[in-house]
Amino acid sequence: MFEKTTWIKLPRNVLVGHGVLDDLSAAVEELYLSGRPLVVTSPTPNDLVGDRVRAQFDVAGTVVVETASFDAVERVVDAASEADAGYLVALGGGKPIDTAKMASDRLKCGLVSVPTAASHDGIVSGRSSIPEGDTRHSVAADPPLAVVADTEILAQAPWELTSAGCADIISNYTAVKDWQLAHRLKNVEYSEYAGALSQMTAEMLVESADAIKPGFEESAWLVAKALVSSGVAMSIAGTSRPASGAEHLISHQLDRLVPGRALHGHQVGVAAIVTEYLHSGERGEWSDIRDALAQMDAPTTASGLGIDDETFLEALTTAHTIRDRYTILGDGVSEAAAREAATFTGVI
Ligand SMILES: [Zn+2]
Repeated sequence: MFEKTTWIKLPRNVLVGHGVLDDLSAAVEELYLSGRPLVVTSPTPNDLVGDRVRAQFDVAGTVVVETASFDAVERVVDAASEADAGYLVALGGGKPIDTAKMASDRLKCGLVSVPTAASHDGIVSGRSSIPEGDTRHSVAADPPLAVVADTEILAQAPWELTSAGCADIISNYTAVKDWQLAHRLKNVEYSEYAGALSQMTAEMLVESADAIKPGFEESAWLVAKALVSSGVAMSIAGTSRPASGAEHLISHQLDRLVPGRALHGHQVGVAAIVTEYLHSGERGEWSDIRDALAQMDAPTTASGLGIDDETFLEALTTAHTIRDRYTILGDGVSEAAAREAATFTGVI
C-alpha cells in the first residue's frame, strides 16, 4: 500500500538583483492578490526605502515596529484588520519580517518579503520566532509569496549583517549532518533532494568566499542567492532540518541566556565549529568551518560573540533540552566533553 504524500510550498516570485525594488509592484501584481497592502517595517528601512515601496501601491498603511514582540504582532494584526488590508509587505531585516510573518499567519493573509539585509535565511522561509519572556514562540508558517531582494540595498547594510547571513548558510553543513544522523538513528524522514541542495548551497558560498567582501554588491548577490536556495531547501523538506541542527539549538539557548548579545548567524556559526567537531572529531572538518567563517569576518569564538566561556558551555550542555529534535547532542553533552570540544576547537 503506497501512502506517501508531499506538499511543497514555495515563493511564487523571487527577484534578486540590482534595482529590483522598483519591480516590487510588478512582482506582486502577478500574484493576483486582492486588496491593499499594509507595509510592516522598522525605522531605518522605512527611512531608507519606505517611500520607494509606498509609491508603487495604494497602501492600506504602514506599521513601524522597533522590536519583534507579541505587542508588535498585535499592532500589525489590528492595523491590517482596521484598514481592511489584503496582504502584508514586510520591509527590513529580521524584526519586521518575523513580525509580519507571524501576523500574516494570524490574519490568514499573504506576505511579501522585501529584505534590506542578507542576515539570515528567514527572509525566504515561513519560519518566524518571537521572544516572549525567556522563551521564544515559533511558527512554521507558509513561506512568503514573493521575495524581492535588491542587492543595491543589501550591499549598503552593515557588513556584520551580511557576514551573519554567510555564517547562517555555512551552518547548513552541520545541520544536514544532524538531519542524516537523526534519519539513521531515529528514522526521521530525510529528503535527499533538500539535503543535497542545502549542502551544495553552503559549498558554493564557501567556494566563492574570495568574492565576499564589504561594500561589493556582488557579495550581497552571492549571499542573497544562497539564502534563497537555503529557504527553498526548507520548503522542499517541509521542515527547517536542512538549515537547522544542533548549532541552531545552541544558538536558541544563547538567546535565552544572553538575549540580544550577538547576531543569530554569528551564534550558529560559532556553534557549528563545535558541533562539527562532535560529529567528526579532531581531524574532522571543524577547522574548515572555522576558516570559512573567519574569511567572511564572522566570529569564531565565544568571546568574539561577546559571550563568556561558561555561558557558552552552559548553552552547549543544555541545548538538547530545547526541543524534540534529535542531533549530535543526543541526550546531552557532558560538561567535561563540552569543555574539551570547545577548547580543542579554540571556541573558548
Ligand atoms: Zn538560522
